[in-house]
Amino acid sequence: MAICYVCNKELSKNEVGLTKKLINKNAKDYYCIRCLAEYLEVTEEELLDKIEEFKNEGCSLFQ
Ligand SMILES: [Zn+2]
Repeated sequence: MAICYVCNKELSKNEVGLTKKLINKNAKDYYCIRCLAEYLEVTEEELLDKIEEFKNEGCSLFQ
């Protein structure tokens, strides 16, 4: 189980997928939604929208 690099929260498949999509597909440090939003200087809502977008594209990194 992956954990957030910043806050050690256990991550969902979607959070791991989002890190791969938005930072680096070979990323080894993963971020939860909250920490990723802070890191990328966007809102959590924007990231949730992104997850929906990737899901709609049928990306297998998301569930
Ligand atoms: Zn976190």
